[in-house]
Amino acid sequence: SCTPLYEMTDGPLAKAILQPRLAFSHKGKFGHALLLAGSPGKMGAAVLAAKACLRSGAGLLTTLVPELERMLFPTAIPESMSILYDNRKPEEILSDTSIYKTIGIGPGLGQQPQSRDWLHHLLTHFRKPMVLDADALNLLASDVRLLEGIPPFSILTPHPKEFDRLNGTCSNDFERLEAALRMAIQHQVIVVLKGHRTFIAMPGGRAWFNTSGNASMAKGGSGDVLTGMLTGLLARGYAPEQAALLGVYLHGLAGEIASRKLGKESVLASDIIDSIGPAFLELE
Ligand code: AMP
Ligand code: MG
Repeated sequence: SCTPLYEMTDGPLAKAILQPRLAFSHKGKFGHALLLAGSPGKMGAAVLAAKACLRSGAGLLTTLVPELERMLFPTAIPESMSILYDNRKPEEILSDTSIYKTIGIGPGLGQQPQSRDWLHHLLTHFRKPMVLDADALNLLASDVRLLEGIPPFSILTPHPKEFDRLNGTCSNDFERLEAALRMAIQHQVIVVLKGHRTFIAMPGGRAWFNTSGNASMAKGGSGDVLTGMLTGLLARGYAPEQAALLGVYLHGLAGEIASRKLGKESVLASDIIDSIGPAFLELE
């Protein structure tokens, strides 16, 4: 028989992955997520990721917040707990990461030495699948030893520029798809190469094109929402490959739902977050 090279996500696939929230459940059952995102001037990215994480079903969320932003963050999202960090060593601030089910790292993080130290600390102490995006990927690109230390089945969510920084420049889109699949196999990670039709490459060599989403999502903050959603789904208990397929599809569907109401020009990342719930409902 002849197996197709790439598969496509669709509603029935996402629906088959979806797990009901059981009646006798409590917040402890749905996993505690940790988020390392935001830096002075870019705290919006952390707020977006945190909201999207909780809207995707995580039971609890703790966000690592720069000391300077201690007032803004909990006001923007009271549902997240915070751990404040200053310029002490990460191990003095957070020595035990074992209570967390997963970690999302990167949106708005910046590439300052302090961010690098935190990324390094979390990569060396936490060995469960995590989500790496944006500046986490940019920091990985400048230090290949970090790339080798990523826990297996972690989800990387580069846009094409971030991917090229990690991988080396690709001369066209087709070459980049093949490189993404090679990276997934070589490092045993899930590579979510974002774009109009996001490509999801699995460690076992399977690969998918996402079919949801539209150009209303081509605006700052959309990617931060995806990182939060994937972190939330991992915390919620989905296996990494299922979380990646469901998360990418739901994110696109939420964008479509938001644009039905607001029109493609006017959708904000916050509107995508507000449509995560309706996207779950549309799948049920
Ligand atoms: P980022 O570049 O990190 O902000 O991520 C942008 C997010 O929005 C990704 O999940 C993309 O797949 C999505 N996105 C951006 N532009 C489009 C588009 N034209 N069609 C569909 N999805 C898009
Ligand atoms: Mg981004």
